[in-house]
Amino acid sequence: MTTGDQGFHMSSADFRRNAHAAVDWVADYLDRVESLPVLSTVSPGDIRSALPAGPPERGEPFEAVLADLDRVLLPGITHWQSPGFFAYFPSNSSGPSIIGELLSAGLGVQGMLWATSPACTELETHALDWLAQLLDLPAAFHSSGSGGGVIQDTASSATLCALLAARERLGGDIRSMTAYTSTQAHSSVEKAVRVAGLDPALLRLVDVDESYAMRADDLAARLAADAAAGLRPAYVVATVGTTSSNAMDPVRPVGELARRHGAWLHVDAAMSGTAALCPEHRGIHDGLELADSYCVNPHKWMFVNFDCDAFYVADRRALVAALSVVPEYLRNPASDSGAVIDYRDWQIPLGRRFRALKLWAVIRHYGVVGLQHHVRAHIALAQDLAARVTAHPALELVAPAPLNLVCLAHREGDAATQRLLDAVNSSGEAYVTHTRLGGRLTMRVSIGAQRTAGRHVDRLWELVTEAA
Ligand code: PLP
Repeated sequence: MTTGDQGFHMSSADFRRNAHAAVDWVADYLDRVESLPVLSTVSPGDIRSALPAGPPERGEPFEAVLADLDRVLLPGITHWQSPGFFAYFPSNSSGPSIIGELLSAGLGVQGMLWATSPACTELETHALDWLAQLLDLPAAFHSSGSGGGVIQDTASSATLCALLAARERLGGDIRSMTAYTSTQAHSSVEKAVRVAGLDPALLRLVDVDESYAMRADDLAARLAADAAAGLRPAYVVATVGTTSSNAMDPVRPVGELARRHGAWLHVDAAMSGTAALCPEHRGIHDGLELADSYCVNPHKWMFVNFDCDAFYVADRRALVAALSVVPEYLRNPASDSGAVIDYRDWQIPLGRRFRALKLWAVIRHYGVVGLQHHVRAHIALAQDLAARVTAHPALELVAPAPLNLVCLAHREGDAATQRLLDAVNSSGEAYVTHTRLGGRLTMRVSIGAQRTAGRHVDRLWELVTEAA
């Protein structure tokens, strides 16, 4: 440990050496991730019991940290970047995104105000306008008009911020405000209702059709009944690609109903919005011009490391009115001029990282062509798997597979489906998770990891059919 002018800080030379070693570690890890058991099998407490009970009195060489990464932590890692990772949803990373994260960490800026680092704000606005072009989002979501985009940590935060804006726009007593989403919506909608202080009993879970998409007729009936009862419809969340089965709520009729009742429409396209990179899949966004807000997670299926949720509003006034608090110590001429965006007014925390760097790096590395190529490849793999399931005598699709998620079950029932899940997950070669659809235990196969190729889906299929 060097002292002197540096105190106890890492010297520039040591930083360079250790950081190079860390980058080598990551590159080697990603090269060999396929050979590691996808699902960690440690027991609760295993990792902590391998760590010293207290912190070191004197600093240690960084080599010791890297050594413990291999020795202690790696057995407790479930390998989300493995090509055999088919669980939950993709949370993929990529070379340009990892480098973007590193650069952001190196700059270490806080982007709470335009004035605290103008490039942080302006690159974010610009990258989100690029993403709006890439996904062909309605003009209102571009920063050139009344709306614009902001990077939130997660879709959950976007859902909450949209509700806070909806609450602000409607005004008045929140005790009479109602909210609507389908029975298949993500749990973050219910959490947002609770956090925002609306009555959880006034969250209406709208029925779904046989494809698990929201039934507009049931939404219409519930809105009408609530309005007739003197309640005030405030917030509707439509999902483009539900978590359980990738169902697509019909945004256009839902949006028309929301407008008719003066409710805010938020569209949650956390994973599946990425498919709109490809013109042939843009139908999932039909009616999006009726939405007040929209979110997609590039940190799911668009090769950007967690966390990066792109949240758009068609009119930013209600959002800023809901979230802007200006203490004296944050006042500055640029903010006072009204000519700049201060993103702290678009989110709940004050501080914010330079997350746009990784999104920008990814878009520049892949380009439109590269992003479309990989999304199409994942969808093709999923469609091929869905066709195999349909043709198999013992298996069946439990829900339509519009994009990159395949939901299947054994025809003999839940015990047999559980056998399939166990066979896959005990193999070490692949990892899938489950849901329940129509009461049936269902295997979800989510395809979207950066390294997943045809041979990995073939191997998964072997594991499933051997156990069928
Ligand atoms: N919405 C949908 C449709 C999702 O599938 C998910 C993730 O599973 C979420 C929201 C929550 O995402 P986040 O972790 O970004 O809050």
